[in-house]
Amino acid sequence: MSTIALLIFAAIILSAFLNLYLDRRQAAAVLAHRGTVPAAFAETVTLEEHQRAADYTLARARVAVIETVYDTLLAILWLGVFLRPVFDFVAAHIVAGLTRSTATVVLVAALSYLLTLPFTIYKTFVLEARFGFNRTTPAIFALDQVKAAVLQLALGVPLLYGLFALLRALPNVWWIFAWAGLMTIMIAMIVIYPAFIAPLFNKFTPMAEGPMKSSIEALLKKCGFESNGLFVMDASKRSAHGNAYFTGFGRAKRIVFFDTLLEKHTDDEILSVLAHELGHYKYGHVIQRIGESALLAFVTFAILHWAFAAGTLPAAFRLPNDPSLVLMIVMTAIGPFTSLLAPITNFLSRRAEFQADGFAKSMVGAAPMISALTKLTRDNLATLTPDWLYTLFNYSHPPVPERIAHLQG
Ligand SMILES: [Zn+2]
Repeated sequence: MSTIALLIFAAIILSAFLNLYLDRRQAAAVLAHRGTVPAAFAETVTLEEHQRAADYTLARARVAVIETVYDTLLAILWLGVFLRPVFDFVAAHIVAGLTRSTATVVLVAALSYLLTLPFTIYKTFVLEARFGFNRTTPAIFALDQVKAAVLQLALGVPLLYGLFALLRALPNVWWIFAWAGLMTIMIAMIVIYPAFIAPLFNKFTPMAEGPMKSSIEALLKKCGFESNGLFVMDASKRSAHGNAYFTGFGRAKRIVFFDTLLEKHTDDEILSVLAHELGHYKYGHVIQRIGESALLAFVTFAILHWAFAAGTLPAAFRLPNDPSLVLMIVMTAIGPFTSLLAPITNFLSRRAEFQADGFAKSMVGAAPMISALTKLTRDNLATLTPDWLYTLFNYSHPPVPERIAHLQG
């Protein structure tokens, strides 16, 4: 086997070991504190709730371990064994280069999807159900899968076709155009997604007139915020987890509350959650996130450009030099390296969360935010005692005890 192939396999395996090590640390930290509720939560969280949260975290960690091993084996098998027969099968039926490359990627993606489907089913109908979160029926689940697949084909096939055509027409500068194109699509999606795609999966109802809506509008005014609407999403048809989010920019901004959040929180708590979301907007976190993705995409396209031009990657895995295979080798090999970047991107994200909490505090005070966070963490069975190293790699939000300490500070 060639050196580059060995290096890629080594990176995939090392990254799996790192993930397994982090999962083990997290499980150990949760188990070590399972017996006592942390002092700061002695008044608000019962021992029974604390232990349920520990059991939920441990159950998810066990699935994560099996999933990591399975995904690692699959990545190695795709590169070492499976890509070849899939490509040969497609090549036997389709001769034209562009269509053949696109069909190869689509077939590999479809097979990968089927191979990971059992995990999705297990997590939804066994794990989430055991802890009382799942509300999806097999019919809703199946329909979701079909809609997502149709959507991915409708968007993915033209994009892949365009990518391979661009590569053929402009072999030296294709990647700059592809990057610019992808960025344009990503930014357009911020407007297209809430208006056209999200409604395919959920119902969005404008928030009813009433005292709640009036206080929300008063808060928006206080924050100098204009939006295209306040919506309630029927999240309860799939899961009991509560949340709120904010999408779009410019005139297309909208604020979405999960019905599961509205059900369980007081008006003041809901206002504090909204103020937090507005904080993200005020501090330009949406733009910051786009900037991070743009940088990551630029590096990925530069690597792809090198890989297409050099042509050494397919040979390293004894594969034909087809752009579809180069694309899939690069995307598989890049995984371990992006997981090494996770501490940086998650650090930026956690910093943004602290800033948004600070903004909420300045608008509505610390108390409602603290009680909203306590309720959310209790209802979502989030552990109060995560491992610090696991947090560094995996937490996009700071652990709730840290957020509450920051709000009190
Ligand atoms: Zn946030």
